[in-house]
Amino acid sequence: MAAEPYSTESIAFRSALDVIRGVEPRVADAISAELADQREMLKLIASENYASPAVLLAMGNWFSDKYAEGTIGRRFYAGCRNVDTVEALAAEHARNVFGAAHAYAQPHSGIDANLVAFWAVLSQRVETPGLARAGVRQVNDLSEQDWAQLRAEFGNQRMLGMSLDAGGHLTHGFRPNISGKMFDQRSYGTDPETGLLDYEALRATAREFRPLIIVAGYSAYPRLVNFRIMREIADEVGATLMVDMAHFAGLVAGKVLTGDFDPVPHANIVTTTTHKSLRGPRGGMVLCDDSLAEHVDRGCPMVLGGPLPHVMAAKAVALAEASRPEFGAYAHRIVDNARALADGLLSRGAKLVTGGTDNHLVLIDVSGYGLTGRQAEAALLDAGIVTNRNSVPQDPNGAWYTSGIRIGTPALTTRGLGVQEMDEIGGLIHAVLSGTTAAAAPKGGLSKAHHVLDPAVADQVAKRASDLLAGFPLYPGIDLS
Ligand SMILES: *Cc1c(COP(=O)(O)O)cnc(C)c1O
Repeated sequence: MAAEPYSTESIAFRSALDVIRGVEPRVADAISAELADQREMLKLIASENYASPAVLLAMGNWFSDKYAEGTIGRRFYAGCRNVDTVEALAAEHARNVFGAAHAYAQPHSGIDANLVAFWAVLSQRVETPGLARAGVRQVNDLSEQDWAQLRAEFGNQRMLGMSLDAGGHLTHGFRPNISGKMFDQRSYGTDPETGLLDYEALRATAREFRPLIIVAGYSAYPRLVNFRIMREIADEVGATLMVDMAHFAGLVAGKVLTGDFDPVPHANIVTTTTHKSLRGPRGGMVLCDDSLAEHVDRGCPMVLGGPLPHVMAAKAVALAEASRPEFGAYAHRIVDNARALADGLLSRGAKLVTGGTDNHLVLIDVSGYGLTGRQAEAALLDAGIVTNRNSVPQDPNGAWYTSGIRIGTPALTTRGLGVQEMDEIGGLIHAVLSGTTAAAAPKGGLSKAHHVLDPAVADQVAKRASDLLAGFPLYPGIDLS
């Protein structure tokens, strides 16, 4: 690997590790070992990426020590002027990159961003006609009785979200998640024949169910979503359209998703993570129109405590990167690579949910190989390929064993791999899955959890994967030795 021991980046990270080593060497070692693992493994996890050294370094500093509850310029603590600067920069870059009227950079994660959004929508609905009637000005002034009365009056705290097995996220109303408890939830899914979103079925459900919020967005749907149609349906039934673009924010920032497929002009409120295809620090964000801005800004104290100023600094850096033309080229390559990976799998006989992809991810139905998702995931890991198992629509194996493997290209694209490599990786995945069988279960029959991978295949694929990666060094500017 073309290591550069005296580059600024090498010196920065090596020095940081030396400082940490002076206090708890095992932590420094684990950090170095993590870099080594990330370099060695073929990472196809669709929700992961590799943030730039600038993003990583923006997180390791004194901002971590600062309390800054409140909003920019209106804090509950003194001495927040530098936090104001970075939060304002993160919000400004976010507004520019996504063309949003308002951006709230405080959520600590995607889940937090969704909670902020749910409460913003509820408080807007409650305050607009309801509060005037109740004679109160702010949602915070409502008594328990007021709440009970309002809930009864509205008779509607309903959410319509994409079902988990069609590719939705657990925060979109899944029972064991708080969203499934806060809301009376109904889900929409995909057409059993084509695997594609069925907008007319969704429209029919919305008309009948009359939700307060329609949530669009996904974690495992390999196709485009038409947000113009989603908004039309939401307007027709008086619902607020919320789009959770956690997975595909990078494709929005990079202008791969435009027109009907860009959520920002169509949704009332948009939530996202910043660490997936957007390639920033681990965190969340909310974008919205002016009517919701003041409600979103009450994320603290409604759902959040003190923001993470060091992470907001890194969000500002990542969004500055995302506003450059190179990021647009990167985002387009993510999708070209996903198509090439899908084609590489299809040409070798793999079965893909919806038969392909239009975005950054591919969902392989591994039942054709006689495997569960859990076995496939473990077999691929044996050969150095990191993926995660995922349900497929109407999955007979449930959410634990599953019948699918979800793979995505944001990380390997950051590393520089291109369409030729993706085709070859499709071949490697197919070789592993073809070389794997379900192990016998202790009580007879076949296990859903255990597998046997032909060791010759494992060795061959691991060697080839490692050679492939050697041609695309991760963080070539960083040498920790
Ligand atoms: C990843 C994801 C989230 C959650 O993000 P965290 O930062 O892990 O909380 C929320 N929604 C969707 C659609 C996601 O894919």
